Amino acid sequence: MEQSLLTNLRDVFTPAVREAMRRKDLTQEELLMRLGYSRRTLLDSFSMEKRCELEFLLDAPASELWNFSPEQADDFELARRSFEQRFCTVEAVEWAKKFPARDLERLGMICGTSGKSFAERFKSGLLPRELMKFMGVVSVAAWKKAYAIAQGTVNPQVYSAWIRLGELQVRRPSGELCLFREIIANNMMFLRRNAFMLRENLRQVVVDTLKKCDVTVLQVPAFITAPAPRAAFFWKGLRPVLLLPTSRTSDSDFLEAVSHMVGHLLQSHSKRPCLLTSKLAAEFAENGLRENNRDSLKDSCCKEAERTAENLLLTEAEECEIICTGRFAERRCIEFFSGKFHVRPGVIVSRLQQQKKIPARSPLNALKVAV
Ligand SMILES: [Zn+2]
Repeated sequence: MEQSLLTNLRDVFTPAVREAMRRKDLTQEELLMRLGYSRRTLLDSFSMEKRCELEFLLDAPASELWNFSPEQADDFELARRSFEQRFCTVEAVEWAKKFPARDLERLGMICGTSGKSFAERFKSGLLPRELMKFMGVVSVAAWKKAYAIAQGTVNPQVYSAWIRLGELQVRRPSGELCLFREIIANNMMFLRRNAFMLRENLRQVVVDTLKKCDVTVLQVPAFITAPAPRAAFFWKGLRPVLLLPTSRTSDSDFLEAVSHMVGHLLQSHSKRPCLLTSKLAAEFAENGLRENNRDSLKDSCCKEAERTAENLLLTEAEECEIICTGRFAERRCIEFFSGKFHVRPGVIVSRLQQQKKIPARSPLNALKVAV
């Protein structure tokens, strides 16, 4: 059994396959995620169909990846023809239609084909194929697994495409990358107490500080076909990557989103990626984190990150002190505590809104600054 498994592994991951994976910067785990099945399934029967999928994913001709006998080569051609059919199914076409295809074409992420209308290109499977290529997956099912964090949002296709634009900009670090979580936490505290009072350049100062801590920060324009995401966070090997939309937003939303992602980064037990949308942020505010104990396992990392974020921006003790004055709805009061605690007025306003102490639509929103 052990022996046959090993032979199998070597049959699949030939030197040519491993070289193609290196070019694509894919580990075995990531490759399997993008295939959408387990290692066991891959090895159980390494069918011609699976070889087609690998060929597609690795962008390398099968004839270079494996040594085919003439007979196998014929089988492979047959399998490839049926593989290409998967891009024309109703499921694939409907899936593809929800992508911001025109924008992706404009960005050069998918190929334009002259002389054919968009409708024709969808129906013929051309665009579904291009989009799967761009997303780096072999099926809709694989896409659902690889971009699980985008599922359940208003437009999973648009959000996953946005994340993908970021993914394509980073490579796995070749050497050791040692993250000092304590230093990152200290830098965030320093930021809060100093740079957070900045009127100008807040965004740049935050980005520069994180970059100095070896966090890769990418700013990618959001697609207009869905509300701009607040931020995304994922790991590329040992490299933490923070993805931010370029669109302007309020200082409180910006800092809350960045702090949430730093909250994820500071977790040493989990490498779960995160996509923070306005809807998710509103849910955190709505449910209140402190008394909510019906945590589902899936969200527990996010909840922990959110708790960390809240304390980075304004501790519970500080929040209590503000609320205990009883005059927190006065601009004067917020400005006083802003000076006392070294925290941006917009952050205090946002927190008071989350705690339902002041309404969401309030003249105090004027204290939030666009960054
Ligand atoms: Zn999260």
